[in-house]
Amino acid sequence: LTERLERAFSRLRGRGKLRERDVDEALREVRLALLEADVSVEVVRDFLARIRERAVGQEVLESLTPAQQVVKIVYEELVRLMGEAREDVRWAKSPPTVVFLVGLQGTGKTTTAAKLAYHFLREGRSPLLVGADVYRPAAREQLETLGAKAGVPVYTRHDVDDAVRIAREGVARAREEGRDVVLVDTAGRLHVDEELMAELERMKAELAPHEILFTLDAMAGQDAVRVAREFHGRLALTGVVVTKLDGDSRGGAVLSVRAVTGAPVKFVAVGEKLEDLEPFYPDRMAQRILGMGDILTLIEKAERELDERRAAELERKMREATFDLEDFLEQLRSLRRMGPLEELLKLIPGVGGALRGVSVDERELRRLEAIILSMTPEERRRPEIVNYSRRKRIARGSGTSVQDVNRLLKQFETMRKLMKQMSRGAGKKGRLPDVG
Ligand code: GDP
Repeated sequence: LTERLERAFSRLRGRGKLRERDVDEALREVRLALLEADVSVEVVRDFLARIRERAVGQEVLESLTPAQQVVKIVYEELVRLMGEAREDVRWAKSPPTVVFLVGLQGTGKTTTAAKLAYHFLREGRSPLLVGADVYRPAAREQLETLGAKAGVPVYTRHDVDDAVRIAREGVARAREEGRDVVLVDTAGRLHVDEELMAELERMKAELAPHEILFTLDAMAGQDAVRVAREFHGRLALTGVVVTKLDGDSRGGAVLSVRAVTGAPVKFVAVGEKLEDLEPFYPDRMAQRILGMGDILTLIEKAERELDERRAAELERKMREATFDLEDFLEQLRSLRRMGPLEELLKLIPGVGGALRGVSVDERELRRLEAIILSMTPEERRRPEIVNYSRRKRIARGSGTSVQDVNRLLKQFETMRKLMKQMSRGAGKKGRLPDVG
């Protein structure tokens, strides 16, 4: 999805104003990207209509290129689609908080119960796991194993097959032991059936859970979203945990589920291990999906840091293609002042991709500095004259290796190419990079 979106935005390169035709062209790509990611057709349609309405004809902000402007709108709409703000667990006023895990068999329900218990334990709570999946063979044993691994006690019974009874006893046990959160692993089926729903409704009526979390298998895409809607219709879900977001899943479910069911995503699971569970933040997820970060943050930071004169100077150099290693060093230093380099570079549309594999951490930066400082002024101005014997000398002088010097020259080349692209595609002021 991220790659497709990047491609869609790259088409908006260097246009002065958001024209209807350009926006439509970019949105066609966005549409394909979303459908390919298995986002539901209706959700895609509404989503694009909103973006189009906001984008077309809009005055492009002074400091933004048209591409950045569209990315900004898409970003904001993605956040909105996923529910704006993080929704936390609804903690009970008087503990224990009772949480049901519901969903179809194989979606990761049992695993998620254990992951959540582990997560809460690390938050300083005292969870209890309850094994009430009496339907899937060995589900209870599995929960006991996972509980032992997580260091969380498990209540279950192997001598009764009454799920409601096990859940009831489990909650009572939690109360006796003063535990503050009970996670009930309920039964799942291979498909939604009346018996399953009726059992869950009985369990809900009796135990009045504070949370009913649906485990949604991201790999199952839209099918899973439809199942979520059915569960929601019967049980009024309070939240969703999207599982298996690692691996090959196309991720569209994360985008659709809120719009289709109204239930917010509260956690995502990204692996099989106990610690592979993350609280869900719509804004962070949108940034991740776009792979381009928050353009506004970039601009605020960049504008604080870059004084106009230096920017103008740089622009001139880019135009005249006289950008040299001296400038490269200057750029690296000013980037460092702005914060963690890699983070910052990722904020620049297109740069994330262009600099993939180019390492720019602090230690590396100090090394780069040493190398450049070991060069003669002539070499800094004209890196192309740095032949093998010069490289050897520079490596010695900077306490690095010839490979290090080679790598720096290559990074510089990458940067120079990028600069050329930016200056070609730059917006009104030509100060900020365009999608390249
Ligand atoms: P249940 O039938 O819904 O209780 O499903 P399980 O909890 O037994 O999970 C089914 C399978 O999916 C197991 O092999 C889990 O290890 C795996 N699984 C669960 N969550 C994730 C996840 O987030 N990522 C990956 N890759 N596998 C997962």
